[in-house]
Amino acid sequence: MQDILSLNLIEIENILISFNEPKYRAKQIFNWLHKNMVTSFDEMTNISKKLRDILSYKFYIPNPEVLEELHSKDESVKYLFSYGEDTLIETVLMKNSYGYTICVSTQVGCKMGCTFCASHLAGFKKNLTAGEILAQVYSIQKKLKQKISNIVIMGIGEPLDNYEASIRFIKNLSNADGLNISQRNITISTCGVVPRIYDLANEGLSVTLAISIHAGDDIVRKKIMPIANKYSIEEIFQATKYYFEKTKRRVSYEYALIKDVNDGKEQANKIAKNLRGTPSHINLIPLNSVSESGYEGTAGKQIKEFYNILQSQNISTTIRISKGQDINAACGQLRRSKELA
Ligand code: SAH
Repeated sequence: MQDILSLNLIEIENILISFNEPKYRAKQIFNWLHKNMVTSFDEMTNISKKLRDILSYKFYIPNPEVLEELHSKDESVKYLFSYGEDTLIETVLMKNSYGYTICVSTQVGCKMGCTFCASHLAGFKKNLTAGEILAQVYSIQKKLKQKISNIVIMGIGEPLDNYEASIRFIKNLSNADGLNISQRNITISTCGVVPRIYDLANEGLSVTLAISIHAGDDIVRKKIMPIANKYSIEEIFQATKYYFEKTKRRVSYEYALIKDVNDGKEQANKIAKNLRGTPSHINLIPLNSVSESGYEGTAGKQIKEFYNILQSQNISTTIRISKGQDINAACGQLRRSKELA
């Protein structure tokens, strides 16, 4: 059985042609799946029973079961979703002044091993399909009255390590015949898988790219992020420069401040030097606690000092207010298993 939510319109057209059905039905089916967000073929009322039966014989529509739903004081909601045994992931809904944002997961677990993050602690299990990533959004959207405005691909997993599914997810989500979420309101975050940043730049999408940089030089970065042994900060900045040239989209950088590890003034100066002259934005994130990591977050006063160094060198900087900390739903706190949650 194949996941039908992962397919694009042309692929559905080709399938219908192979069934000797008219091509225009593909758009109707795509609408049912991505605009009406149905979870069974029987809900497709303008499609013949015969075709619905054929479709349900060959395809399925991913639809996660909600195993747990935790509500934060700040109105964020963390969902523990299951797509069957061993496929547990978390997805977070956040409410902002401008609307709702959903933070989706792309993998069950993570291979990247960043020492401050909870998502790799139970190991890597598997990639999600594009349809399983879409179904996180659809299942939450159906519960809300208001349309979701923003998507951040910042949940469990490394999206550029599940590249094809992540791209399919973005394309179907932003399709005018689907939920039609503007690509400009979609952010994809990576720990820095350099070759894939070039691929992404060449896709012709207008999504925002965010880089989890977390250090000003390779020595510090290697201590906390294994990917730094593969790609240098210089290679990352070359790739993000290319991303900007191709897309004209300003690149964002995430920097979680860890006490006595990456919060020194010299790190701030090095980052500023690297970014000078290239349109970019830095999000400083006060470290969210992950009990196993043993790290402490940088104190507020030092965060402000780090911020001032960047600002004084004309680097656009904000301090991110983490949402959902009380339900372990903040950056870096998502995990793939109920026992560990
Ligand atoms: N794998 C991708 C997508 C995850 S995004 C990436 O690395 O970008 C989640 C963000 O939260 C990343 O910037 C990650 O580095 C950050 N993060 C991880 N653990 C954190 C923690 N304990 N406190 C604050 N931010 C954290």
